[in-house]
Amino acid sequence: MMNTGSQSYAEIDLDALIHNFRCMEQLAGPSKKLIASIKGNAYGHGVVEVAQALETAGAYALMTGSLDEARDLRDHGITLPILLFAFSTDELALQAAREGFVPTLTSHASARTLSREAKETVSVYLKIDTGLGRLGEPLASAREFVERTSELKHLQIDGIYTHVPFSQTSNASWAVEKLKAFDHFLATLESDGHAFPVTQAMASSCLLAGLKDNCSAVCLGHALYGLSPFSVESHDTHKDLKPVLTGLKSTLIHIGHLQAGSDIAIGGLYGLERPRTVGVLPLGLAQGISSPQPDKELVTLVAGRRCRVLSVSLEHCTIDLDGAGHVVVGDPVTLIGYDGEEQMTLAEVAGASGIGPLEMLMQFSGRIPIRYPGKSEGAPKPQEKFCANKH
Ligand SMILES: *Cc1c(COP(=O)(O)O)cnc(C)c1O
Repeated sequence: MMNTGSQSYAEIDLDALIHNFRCMEQLAGPSKKLIASIKGNAYGHGVVEVAQALETAGAYALMTGSLDEARDLRDHGITLPILLFAFSTDELALQAAREGFVPTLTSHASARTLSREAKETVSVYLKIDTGLGRLGEPLASAREFVERTSELKHLQIDGIYTHVPFSQTSNASWAVEKLKAFDHFLATLESDGHAFPVTQAMASSCLLAGLKDNCSAVCLGHALYGLSPFSVESHDTHKDLKPVLTGLKSTLIHIGHLQAGSDIAIGGLYGLERPRTVGVLPLGLAQGISSPQPDKELVTLVAGRRCRVLSVSLEHCTIDLDGAGHVVVGDPVTLIGYDGEEQMTLAEVAGASGIGPLEMLMQFSGRIPIRYPGKSEGAPKPQEKFCANKH
């Protein structure tokens, strides 16, 4: 019987997500609240299902940069606080606050506008720039920002945070310095009577590198999805984390037996020197697959064997089925995941195109249907020992 469902799909393992969540809870320690970063469609993993799983697991709050994503979550019954990264103009921040989301304010001017326009008290977070150089009030003037903003009517400052990500573990000392400065800043504020329910500075890179701070929360994305935030692994910082994207599967929709001498235009125009068997998959650039770089190979798994991708077009991939044994139309093809003893990882597929795993996920995001095999009923297992390497 033909499978009438989608012929290409990704598999997301929500149990692996929860495993990673527990792992990071242990690493962070019992005093830290865990805010989950679910921006970018939960790093491509499907924001609604991921948010539902994290809510069940006990996340303190969810954080995204998209008001649309935040609304989508509310529409799907998510009740956790939804925080918004600095993302918008003052108008949108006001709109977000009115709808019950928690916007980030990065300047006193924005705070004043929001305070003036809001008819009743709204909850906000303040963002401080401790050295990333992107968004937030610079640390040097942050004290004045906080003090003046605290005096505004209609604003309730529920959190204050900064962001100090780094992509090479050799740069951890840069983050250590920033964490120290932020801790010192918060201590000074507190001694002046300014305390906030949430203070946060560490994201995945800090926590996985074993750094510490005095804040009350961490905000994690990469680690929850089993992704490394580091471009180069200098030590195995995340060996206990499991990939949450466990599969990218497709189906052979055509098998072609090409004669020797035939001129074909697959992966270049050439006459075949010998008969070849090629397979076609209903998956291409439109679904986020990209062509391998000239010096690299993209491999798929068919019947437990490795089969090279010959070409990627808008809606199809052509693969080399020589040596694949007996295969028929309708047989499954694995682009990511296990087939028998063989395995292809997200990192390998991304690497073939010269991009990183997160970039690859963003190419797939929203373009390939997702299946959640054995979707967890959400029974959390807080007592279980998840992490071997506690820092
Ligand atoms: C995305 C983001 C995070 C989470 O970072 P990860 O490296 O994915 O853990 C934390 N804070 C801010 C401000 C972010 O934009």
